[in-house]
Amino acid sequence: MATEKKYIYFFGKGKADGTGTMKDLLGGKGAGLAEMTNAGVPVPPGFTITTEVCNLFYEIGNRVPEGLDAKMREYMKRVEDAVNGFKFGDVGKPLLVSVRSGSKFSMPGMMDTVLNLGLNDQTIRGLISMSGNERFAWDAYRRFIQMFGNVVMGIEKDVFEHIIHEVKKKRKVHLDIDLTAEDLKGLVDKFKAKVMQVMKRDFPQDPWEQLVMARDAVFGSWNNPRAITYRRLNDIPGTLGTAVNVQAMVFGNMGDTSATGVGFTRDPSTGAKEFYGEYLTNAQGEDVVAGIRTPRPIENLDKEMPQVYRQLRDITSKLERHYRDIQDFEFTVQEGTLYMLQTRTGKRTAQAAVKIAVDMVGEKLISREEAILRVEPASLDQLLHPIIDPKAKIQVIAKGLPASPGAASGAVVFTADEAVKEAKKHNVILVRPETTPDDIHGMDAAKGILTARGGMTSHAAVVARGMGKPCVAGCESIKVDLKAEKFTVNGVTVKLGDHITIDGGTGRVIRGKVPTVEPTVSGDFGTLMTWVDEVRTLGVRANADIPRDAKMARQFGAEGIGLCRTEHMFFASDRLSIMQQMILADDTEAREKALLKLLPMQRSDFKGLFEAMAGFPVTIRLLDPPLHEFLPKREELMVEVAVMQAKKAPKASIAKKEKLLHRVEELHEFNPMLGHRGCRLGIVYPEITRMQTRAIIEAACELAKKGKKIVPEIMVPLVGIKKEFQHQKELIKVTAEEVMKKKGVRIDYLIGTMIELPRAALIADEIAKEAEFFSFGTNDLTQTTYGFSRDDAGKFISYYTEKGILEKDPFQTLDQEGVGQLVKMGVTRGRSTRPNLKVGICGEHGGDPASVEFCFKTGLNYVSCSPYRVPIARLAAAHAKLKEKGVGGSGTK
Ligand code: ADP
Ligand code: MG
Ligand code: MG
Repeated sequence: MATEKKYIYFFGKGKADGTGTMKDLLGGKGAGLAEMTNAGVPVPPGFTITTEVCNLFYEIGNRVPEGLDAKMREYMKRVEDAVNGFKFGDVGKPLLVSVRSGSKFSMPGMMDTVLNLGLNDQTIRGLISMSGNERFAWDAYRRFIQMFGNVVMGIEKDVFEHIIHEVKKKRKVHLDIDLTAEDLKGLVDKFKAKVMQVMKRDFPQDPWEQLVMARDAVFGSWNNPRAITYRRLNDIPGTLGTAVNVQAMVFGNMGDTSATGVGFTRDPSTGAKEFYGEYLTNAQGEDVVAGIRTPRPIENLDKEMPQVYRQLRDITSKLERHYRDIQDFEFTVQEGTLYMLQTRTGKRTAQAAVKIAVDMVGEKLISREEAILRVEPASLDQLLHPIIDPKAKIQVIAKGLPASPGAASGAVVFTADEAVKEAKKHNVILVRPETTPDDIHGMDAAKGILTARGGMTSHAAVVARGMGKPCVAGCESIKVDLKAEKFTVNGVTVKLGDHITIDGGTGRVIRGKVPTVEPTVSGDFGTLMTWVDEVRTLGVRANADIPRDAKMARQFGAEGIGLCRTEHMFFASDRLSIMQQMILADDTEAREKALLKLLPMQRSDFKGLFEAMAGFPVTIRLLDPPLHEFLPKREELMVEVAVMQAKKAPKASIAKKEKLLHRVEELHEFNPMLGHRGCRLGIVYPEITRMQTRAIIEAACELAKKGKKIVPEIMVPLVGIKKEFQHQKELIKVTAEEVMKKKGVRIDYLIGTMIELPRAALIADEIAKEAEFFSFGTNDLTQTTYGFSRDDAGKFISYYTEKGILEKDPFQTLDQEGVGQLVKMGVTRGRSTRPNLKVGICGEHGGDPASVEFCFKTGLNYVSCSPYRVPIARLAAAHAKLKEKGVGGSGTK
């Protein structure tokens, strides 16, 4: 029975039907309004229609359940009672309402709000006589038609803006606030005529019809493309639905003692404990965030309305203590009286998240464990990117607001569509006068965002911070000319495609590309990471091939190297030619000669790695890629040979080229990924394995002699057959023994294998009888389990994820359902024959938070990822541990 279920929740007069914990049902906004009301905060009364109704709305075919309209009338009565005598639709004392969307997670700018609903040609008279302010009343009415016309009736915003523009031009004024009551009244008539012309119907005059239409439009907007995009980008399920809040209006546009504003209890960009916000006097609703007028900093309110300011500070710090987290709030002042319209957990940059979490522990608001859970592992990525080299000579051409930190360079584009198109080719910076929700796809594609208008809480700033993207907002000195596709500032012209750099931490706009330096884990970030390490039990190593990366990995907290890809050492220009000599060798003897030249180079590489890792284990994988990767491309060689012949080059050099071509052709493989690579190389050419083992053990012995603790782990790639491993292990052991005997030192080392073929996982118990450790190579394991070649899958994977055939790209997030089963099986079977088997993962998944959690649950000893992702993996490992312990986090989306 539809009417028996409670679909509507009242709030007002100091008491609400709902509470702050009912976000699922009432949405974040509705739950916040209920909680604030219960806490005695001044909130205009209203009611919330639940998210359940939204889901029913779609279920029964864009209709609300039977009886809901009648219920709404009952609740409207309660609102009327709470605002002494104002009545919805009453001509004398009309109650006006806002209709606001709000789902569990805040989705900034995604769903539209209609203000001043209930106005019509009759009630406007009541509004005029009550307020005694004709200009205000007509302004409210024209705004209402504009918003309702756009949000509910679907008329383009520009249609109305154009009319306003024309009137302003005729009246020779610049700002909306310069329009008189008479002008605004004229606008109302023009708007109504326009609605008639476009919609072929009158603007609805019946307040109840208005309300029902607005309500259904809010439900309908849950599935507009912007909302869907935002949900996809933020992993918000589409099944949550939105609530609808109907709330008595208060007016910030009733003159100079009225205002509207937004703010944060701390700085959402840096995390500094500073009250932070912006407001506009004589303004309504979205004016502050729309970027039309640049708002004033909240400190000014202290001068203009000191009492209101103190009350606001008092309320908001209470809210922060109550919620134990930074609050993002909206307020309106109507003729000197303060009303709170919204409070929610503030979105923040990673930098701010870290600082706020650490500070709040100091303030005894939260525990260390909670602090850890307050920071999203993936967001740390923002802190781990290079920053502008402070020593670099740069040309700063403009300065705007530091809306979202980080540096980004790229070619300038002026539209969201252009951003998406160009971003496929290179990095772009999206430059807009201001952004709107329609730009979301372009903001996603761009590396950074620059706007000429709007404050720190403008759409661009809020969305950029949410995305963790550098943003400079409100850069008023730049003049954006969208038609000519350029912007000018202080005599400098920047055209479409020109390079600029923005620094979202300082607000600087810089001409050209700028050199950058590596970030460090220090200060609050360092503090948080020490707490993280106290909590987590999963080890974190890095994938590093050269000493420089290894050093960086150590600085980021890596406890060893989980994967050193030795082949990367061979690509260096001075070595490639020796490598080619080795490959081109006609017999073993010649091959060994070339390998002997490579030996000292490898040895010194390994020494560097061991030293950088100072006693932590270093896993070195033997040569893995097919040999043709070290040789020139067949087509290029053919051209070269032809050119040499045409130029009549010396016979000998032509012959040499031809030999190379011949060898390349011999090595050609139809499917190199499944070809002669991995341990198959070391088996066919044992001298390669021997040389690499020698280099490893010699390096270790030499350092051990100097008293250093070295822990090499030699790893055999692409094993699928037990005997493959046995073959390589025997070679390694014999060689290592020889070296140690000769050097007169003994070192401990391990011989293990990659598990990257399904067959290896299947026979893990057999392999573990021989192997001392496993490392899951989940890149190859994903390729071979799906039968997708990673290099070719790009062509269809994005299509798959768009169509929902795959939920996530399995090369980015470990496919727990399929590949994960092989991992589990490998661990269980491996440990069934070798209980203390050390198991790690070294695929790219090692730095993906969801995959890290999986590895923890599966009982791995460590994950290994790129140096830059080491802090992310450490934090993700701590989150996994805390989740297991049942410590809940306050998930903020
Ligand atoms: P969003 O989710 O986009 O923030 P809101 O529902 O919060 O949308 O509303 C947008 C703007 O309208 C806010 O700035 C808010 O201050 C204003 N607003 C909403 N309801 C009222 C109301 N009852 N009285 C006055 N202003 C309101
Ligand atoms: Mg909105
Ligand atoms: Mg809001």
